Amino acid sequence: MARTGPNSDYSCLTPLPKGTQATVTGTEGDWLRLDFGGWINHKEARILAGSVPARSLIRSIRSCQIPGWTEVVFPLQLPVPVQVKQADGTFTLTLHNTTAQTDTIFIDDDPLISRLDWQQVAPNQVQYTFNLKSNQQWGYKLNYRGTSLVLALRHPPVVKRQAPLTGIKILLDPGHGGEELGSRGPTGYPEKDVTLLVSKLLRDELVQRGATVLMTRTTDRDVSLGDRVAMIDRVEPDIALSIHYNALPDNGDAINTQGIGTFWYHAQSHDLAIFLHNYLTKALNRPSYGVYWNNLALTRPAVAPAVLLELGFMINPQEFEWIVNPQEQKKLAAALAAGVVQWLGQ
Ligand SMILES: [Zn+2]
Repeated sequence: MARTGPNSDYSCLTPLPKGTQATVTGTEGDWLRLDFGGWINHKEARILAGSVPARSLIRSIRSCQIPGWTEVVFPLQLPVPVQVKQADGTFTLTLHNTTAQTDTIFIDDDPLISRLDWQQVAPNQVQYTFNLKSNQQWGYKLNYRGTSLVLALRHPPVVKRQAPLTGIKILLDPGHGGEELGSRGPTGYPEKDVTLLVSKLLRDELVQRGATVLMTRTTDRDVSLGDRVAMIDRVEPDIALSIHYNALPDNGDAINTQGIGTFWYHAQSHDLAIFLHNYLTKALNRPSYGVYWNNLALTRPAVAPAVLLELGFMINPQEFEWIVNPQEQKKLAAALAAGVVQWLGQ
């Protein structure tokens, strides 16, 4: 995980694919500054002998379709650092330490990509912009296969108008569990219990509507953040929802802080976050704590749109009554499922 500065408080840059090579241009404590400007913890890097400038040329980009994905192969002489920027309708890949001598670009007629543009934006930096056929993006993967960079862009799921969840795979992640209690209600009731309860209710609602649902846990057990993220990367759901309840911010006012909060990270998750947030607060007449961009372990997966919901504040006495009320939990699960159906079907 490359960051903008030499400790883990700094923002994450696009994770560098395994095998990426770069020159170390400075150190600070346990952190190495890399030639493209990012910093990485020395534990995540291996120092190679020699001081060959880590630079590459690039030519002849090709794409091919595999089930569910378009793969674009960027042949390089060595694995260089890369960065991704998603926006509405575009996906931009920047290759550092790279000079383009691009002879040809071959992108076959594609369900996703309308055109690939490229530009040498600096002597050491090539930028590829994929113009996409739809504003909504569904996920991407970046890997080195030898020294070739392989970018996989996910095709949209096939959504049937009559039954939008048929054939759709949804991953639910009930927050905390086991030793990890999460936030606590006024009675000491732990967040981990209500996240599991509501996730199971939501699973049932989604399955009833035809979805395939996977969960990161179905019992009261510890699951690390790393294992949750690894599961999302492995199962490649169409969407991933992490279910939480909020704790009070520092110096917070327990009586006056309430409402549903929704968190997203990659641009591909933004529309889903806004939609579910508005849908829930309206359908259930709940206060809104707001929609936030936030770099959280469970909003960071890139393989699918991923949203983390904080469905209310455990410590607010009024909201807590709503949180633990079994009828309201059912209504919440039904509303969330209906929101997912509407978002996919739109
Ligand atoms: Zn939580």
